[in-house]
Amino acid sequence: MRKPVIAGNWKMYKTLAEAKEFALQLKEQQVDGTKVDAVICAPPLFLDQLVEATKGSFVSIGAQTMHEEKEGAYTGEVSGHQLQDLGVEYVVLGHSERRQYFNETDESVNKKAKAAFENNLTPIICVGETLEQREQNETETIVSNQVMAAIEGLTEEQLIQSIIAYEPIWAIGTGKTATADDANDVCQAIRETILDGYGEEVANSVRIQYGGSVKPENIVELLSKEHIDGALVGGASLQVDSFVKLLEAG
Ligand code: PGA
Repeated sequence: MRKPVIAGNWKMYKTLAEAKEFALQLKEQQVDGTKVDAVICAPPLFLDQLVEATKGSFVSIGAQTMHEEKEGAYTGEVSGHQLQDLGVEYVVLGHSERRQYFNETDESVNKKAKAAFENNLTPIICVGETLEQREQNETETIVSNQVMAAIEGLTEEQLIQSIIAYEPIWAIGTGKTATADDANDVCQAIRETILDGYGEEVANSVRIQYGGSVKPENIVELLSKEHIDGALVGGASLQVDSFVKLLEAG
């Protein structure tokens, strides 16, 4: 049995005061942390305070990207080493917005995934097709290639701990969700790709999230599907009440 993982991706939203208030309210909620992993992926500037505010609760904290080097002259960047030092436990890699606006590529995602493990961070590796690629029936090929490139060279043990997020680009922030069946089909294709490359134990263990306009109204159906093990959530993770509803569905 794979434990569902619901990760909020706050993107470039919230002030420090709002983030702290969210954390205080969230940790008061009755969420069974043995049934679902709850993660908040926040902007770097208040990761330390969120780690502090959620210590000992069911909530873990993640970053939205990282640099693959431990340290160096990379103005504006944050390394996995620095994230680990703050007590951060997860990191989103290769989000489509990072790929589109900040030049993250399959190759850099792969380097970052390796560096994440060196720093005890669990990577949430994002893959997904554009609308055009979907219309050309290229979805499964594109997504499988992205997955294989991102995980190349990871050990079986690391793969078992990895999280893949399938996020069709046309569904992110648009209100358009893939149908649960379509999302499940792609998640299944990802699992089969991993099965071919790494065998049954790895394929059955790796958790695959769906992301793209996930909300309380569609989470239950999405999570009922065999190959969907959680969600990566933007908009609906910004309010405590809707985020809690997503966790309760886990
Ligand atoms: P959304 O964002 O839930 O607002 O569509 C998802 C994401 O970007 O991870």
